[in-house]
Amino acid sequence: MEPTLRAGTLALAALACFGCAARSATPHASPSPNGALTRTELAPSPLASSPHVALGVPTDSDPSDDLLMDKGAYVLSYSDALRQPSWVAWRVTRADLGSAPRSNDFRQDADLPTGFFRVGPGDYARTGYDRGHLCPSAHRTASREENSLTFLMTNMQPQVHALNAGPWKGLESHERQRAAEGKLVYVVAGGIFAASPARFGPQIAVPEASFRITVVLESGQGPADVSAQTPVIGTIMPNDASARGRKWQELRASVDEIERRTRYDFLSALDDEVERAVEARETDASPSP
Ligand code: MN
Repeated sequence: MEPTLRAGTLALAALACFGCAARSATPHASPSPNGALTRTELAPSPLASSPHVALGVPTDSDPSDDLLMDKGAYVLSYSDALRQPSWVAWRVTRADLGSAPRSNDFRQDADLPTGFFRVGPGDYARTGYDRGHLCPSAHRTASREENSLTFLMTNMQPQVHALNAGPWKGLESHERQRAAEGKLVYVVAGGIFAASPARFGPQIAVPEASFRITVVLESGQGPADVSAQTPVIGTIMPNDASARGRKWQELRASVDEIERRTRYDFLSALDDEVERAVEARETDASPSP
């Protein structure tokens, strides 16, 4: 990556995080009645220098339920109320792909603050739901350490096996193949929840669908090169038996639709005109092998 591109990445990430410093620095703080932030709350965001959110840190209107965490291999916003991340974001390139074995060391995330429930690896047992990776194990095989980070329970979402092993896995593979070709791939993924979602075990909420937004840049491009023509793949995949036999290509949705269903704003670091154009599209001209 050229120095100019690197500088651009950092600048975009810093801009993207400008508004989220307070919530990440003070996970325990309740919003004051009038929503005002005090000076002491404005600490640097833990995501400010992360390459994974160069296209923007997803935000919604209620930051009290967004604990931003930087796991190094990916970043996420954790909801203690849902007992899972609201979204996980990561970048995948050829440099992330190697020969590290799948570590399978599912475990609690000890970095969750005191007072948060720590979901454990056994909490999904015999529930009918897979521990569905958001940032996939197969996108982090450059080292054992990177791979192991994907097995933190703060990277998991309850998914029916038909989804996890079906269209969800199919799109993971598509992204990995593009990265292996040298492309620069940005992904953000999470759940879509009913107002009163079904829950199991220690109140783990079950999303009615999983969403995924995948941006594919060419080799040599950087986040500043996203244009109205850049392939952006939005999908909303049902988290029930109807996922069986479906392909991700049949489950496309515009980013606008994903924003309506999740109430998060994605790709907010893009130029407004580019953001509007790519978010309104339901499909793009890119071949989908
Ligand atoms: Mn947006």
